[in-house]
Amino acid sequence: MASQLNQLTARRINELYGMKLEAHRVVVEPEDLGDEIALDEDILEPYKCWTVENIQRNAQGRIRIQVGEGGSELKCFSYHLAYKWANPDVEVPSTLGNGPSIDHLCGRAFCHRPSHLQLVQEHKHNTARIGCFGNMFVVTEQGEIAHCTQCKHSPSCMKVYTSLLGPFN
Ligand SMILES: [Zn+2]
Ligand SMILES: [Zn+2]
Repeated sequence: MASQLNQLTARRINELYGMKLEAHRVVVEPEDLGDEIALDEDILEPYKCWTVENIQRNAQGRIRIQVGEGGSELKCFSYHLAYKWANPDVEVPSTLGNGPSIDHLCGRAFCHRPSHLQLVQEHKHNTARIGCFGNMFVVTEQGEIAHCTQCKHSPSCMKVYTSLLGPFN
């Protein structure tokens, strides 16, 4: 599957991305893991995920794409296509999914936002992010950010944790 993506021309990848992902993009709000405090839209924007409606419902991230002129069809993960679209010069390993993988910085398997994706060579780099709360924002009751701490991962996880600044902080 992954090697077939490498065989597609950059132009075809662009076409497929536009037809399958961009034209049907749905923006999904980040899941706030901490206290329920509304953060500023500018702060939240980079944490928003992208999906297409049926993918979000299935939570799988699978799409069908037409590969050849003859109509041969290929099942592909939307985020693999998005990664290749955003990184046309990167050779995606043919063993993708079997060691090397496209890792979700947001932890959401349906997401195909390129800034939420990175290629990792070993599966352990993917699983290392499980359970991470992401970047923590400590916010005053007025909604002002008093403090921000990035998670220990690099690049940092695209998850938001907000905590209300308590009277004793
Ligand atoms: Zn995402
Ligand atoms: Zn993390």
